[in-house]
Amino acid sequence: MSFDRIIGQERPKKILQRALASRHLHHAYFFTGPEGSGKEALAIEFAKALYCSSQGVKPCDQCSLCRRVGQFNHPDFLFLMPMPKNTAVEEEREILDSVAEQPYSRKKPWPNPTISIERIRELRRISMLKPLELYRVIVIAEADKMTDEAANSLLKILEEPPPNMYIILTSSRPLTLPATIFSRCQEIRFSPLTDEQVSTALVQTKGVEPGAARLIARIVQGNFARALEWLEEDLEERRESVVELLRVCLRDPLAQIEYVEELQSRYDRRLLKDLLGLILIWFRDVQVLRHGHAYGLDVREVLVNADRMETLDKFSRAFAEIGFDDIFAEVERSIEWIDRNVQIPLILTVLFMRLQRHLVLKG
Ligand SMILES: [Zn+2]
Repeated sequence: MSFDRIIGQERPKKILQRALASRHLHHAYFFTGPEGSGKEALAIEFAKALYCSSQGVKPCDQCSLCRRVGQFNHPDFLFLMPMPKNTAVEEEREILDSVAEQPYSRKKPWPNPTISIERIRELRRISMLKPLELYRVIVIAEADKMTDEAANSLLKILEEPPPNMYIILTSSRPLTLPATIFSRCQEIRFSPLTDEQVSTALVQTKGVEPGAARLIARIVQGNFARALEWLEEDLEERRESVVELLRVCLRDPLAQIEYVEELQSRYDRRLLKDLLGLILIWFRDVQVLRHGHAYGLDVREVLVNADRMETLDKFSRAFAEIGFDDIFAEVERSIEWIDRNVQIPLILTVLFMRLQRHLVLKG
């Protein structure tokens, strides 16, 4: 990877490239922005560029320094991220290797990992030593996961940064950190990736078929890490679930209760949120199918589920009336409730009731 291979984020790249070229560098940077927008990926490239020995474009990705930093094998480069307590050294190495391999995605097999005070103390100890090369570069990924003690300890480093040390913090929730940390860093803001950027990257780097890439991009809303996770999911099965859910929606309450129980055993909150996202896309497609011609749209071009045209059409024809605006509002409200930790059975029961109200079957 080099700067070119970071998806989008032209502005952050430009700022960093300018800083590198002029060597007007800050001691501490804070990369902020949504999850899956590439903050850690760019932090690693930036670190490589700081060490890179090439005379041309940096990072060159060819020299031994670029390679060693990229593989997290350079003694002056440290990548800290939330880890479970008492992680074994080999396990930590495995996790770090997976980040080096694919900085957009992260193995998260544990609940509530933190960056502990011990890690930052170790960092403080190291920061007093002279680096092997010219300087030391530290990335602290998901810095908001630092414990309060760890954050306080880091603040001491930031207050008097060693001259030969650069620190890059990343976070999608920077405001949960003390303002004193924030104010000592140069903030670089990342924007969510566009659907276009996500789907192009999926096609180009993962060989995903363009139709599927477009659908995944719509679901993940700018989060490339989630897009990579979706490659592991059975997209067809998920789409089947949408049709199934809408069918249940028209049935009696008892059938709905049974379905909710069954769904709850298969879906966690995150998957359910994605499923609701798919429902939104489904209804947008039905809307395009019903009214698109009137606006002179080439329906096939606009449909996300273009390969499901027949099912969409059958679905559309079953209803005399579909209250699209109300349906969009209801589904979006349910998504909000998932974020606010409302009980899943309650969310679904209410959603079924309300969707039913806005779907009028043909006589
Ligand atoms: Zn290089």
